[in-house]
Amino acid sequence: MIGSGFGGLALAIRLQSAGVDTLVLERRDKPGGRAYVYEDQGFVFDAGPTVITDPTALEELFRLSGRRIEDYVRLLPVSPFYRLCWEDGYRFDYVNDQAELDRQIALKSPGDVAGYREFLAYSKAVLEEGYIKLGHVPFPDFRSMVRVAPQLIRLESYRSVYGMVSRFIKDPHLRQAFSFHSLLVGGNPFETSSIYALIHALERQWGVFFPQGGTGALIQGMVKLLRDLGGEIRLDAGVDEIVVEQGRVAAVRLQSGERIPCRFAVSNADVVHTYDRLLRGSAPAQRRAASLKKKRFSMSLFVIYFGLKGTRPGLQHHTVLFGPRYRELLKDIFHGAELPADFSLYLHAPTVTDPSLAPPGHSAYYVLAPVPHLGNADIDWEAEGPRYRDRILDYLERQCIPNLKADLVTCRIFTPHDFRDELNAHVGSAFSLEPVLWQSAYFRTHNKDPEIGGLYFVGAGTHPGAGIPGVVGSAKATAGIILAEQMERSAA
Ligand SMILES: Cc1cc2nc3c(=O)[nH]c(=O)nc-3n(C[C@H](O)[C@H](O)[C@H](O)COP(=O)(O)OP(=O)(O)OC[C@H]3O[C@@H](n4cnc5c(N)ncnc54)[C@H](O)[C@@H]3O)c2cc1C
Repeated sequence: MIGSGFGGLALAIRLQSAGVDTLVLERRDKPGGRAYVYEDQGFVFDAGPTVITDPTALEELFRLSGRRIEDYVRLLPVSPFYRLCWEDGYRFDYVNDQAELDRQIALKSPGDVAGYREFLAYSKAVLEEGYIKLGHVPFPDFRSMVRVAPQLIRLESYRSVYGMVSRFIKDPHLRQAFSFHSLLVGGNPFETSSIYALIHALERQWGVFFPQGGTGALIQGMVKLLRDLGGEIRLDAGVDEIVVEQGRVAAVRLQSGERIPCRFAVSNADVVHTYDRLLRGSAPAQRRAASLKKKRFSMSLFVIYFGLKGTRPGLQHHTVLFGPRYRELLKDIFHGAELPADFSLYLHAPTVTDPSLAPPGHSAYYVLAPVPHLGNADIDWEAEGPRYRDRILDYLERQCIPNLKADLVTCRIFTPHDFRDELNAHVGSAFSLEPVLWQSAYFRTHNKDPEIGGLYFVGAGTHPGAGIPGVVGSAKATAGIILAEQMERSAA
């Protein structure tokens, strides 16, 4: 297994639980991929995912070997799921209580209460078809895509998330409140298929959670489970090449020069990095890399991790701060060649739920802004990063964190250059291939390479896509293929 992101670990656990010996090779010094952890002066910062949804998909990984997730990590419910704030002072607490949602919607736009119910019914129908039935099923050939076409048409998946939300909800603020979710998996709500409206029902169905000790504690729980099952994980073990002999994977070569023979290899690394760089000796892989590079990639992110003296009792765990523009800002982020002058932000305040993530009397945060990827806007982040950081911290100080700069104890940034250089992410994309309809399911990187024997994929670049539920689903899809092949081989 190349890479220890959520998808890589989930697949390794599945294989190891089925008795297939698995070695995970991770180039960084800690596991987790986008869910890396920074520690500084007693502060613990989760680098990436913070909104844990569909805990049942994670519980299933532990149940495979008769274990219980609660013996490894505790998932704490978070409420409100998010506080949404606009510059005109309007606030919406997105909670899982129908009466409270109805109350807030009625206060803002009485006509939208019924519309919201219809939207929720739509979202639940897509959740059932797109996630519960198909979120862990591979799409190996075009026939598999044709088979689901009737459902896709019936659910009007050719519409955008925003288009679908607008059909049911009229108020502009509420349209934003119920359409921004596709950004969590790298999709522009104005262009991403309405199937991604399922995220709303997914959150309502199972809730939003945060692991005690941070997302890093969930990763540690998965690593411990893998090791308890007899699996192995090697850190600081970057793979330099997947060696293909007679059309089949024969070994992987590490950056240290070590050659590790293997019957098959799964890449959890970026799909372009895998085909272009790790398979540089393979002609079919080079063709696939060239075709992948022509596809559309999700936006990047600019992230600031910071710790403060004192706490800010008024803040919620998750806050979205919408800037002055919505549609136009997203257009600039997804298609523009420059850094937009304005921004919308997601603010993570984990110490609201778990104060142990900062020293006593302190609080930990991260704030992120979606920004264009490097293929669209080749911004000099070494120069721009500190300026952008200061603008965002000034804004937060004005909007919701008084005395931020005076109380600042620690601060670090992560830019599109870091996505590219630290995570090998093509054009510094934060979520891999953009989740538009013509890059989904069969049209995403296949879980099994159709030409190179013994080569498989798992993670955000494969079906169903980014986000923890997505990559954990992709692990189930890839495990299904590998284990079926193993059974065939042992029966032969
Ligand atoms: C800032 C941020 C916030 C997010 N928030 C959320 C959220 O709240 N909820 C949610 O569900 N999702 C969220 N996401 C999305 C989610 O984190 C990702 O989609 C998911 O974690 C990706 O997992 P993955 O399996 O694709 O692997 P990745 O996390 O991409 O990991 C791939 C691993 O491969 C390793 N690798 C790369 N090249 C090599 C090589 N040559 N040799 C060895 N190893 C290699 C990398 O170092 C990395 O560890 C967020 C993403 C980001 C960036």
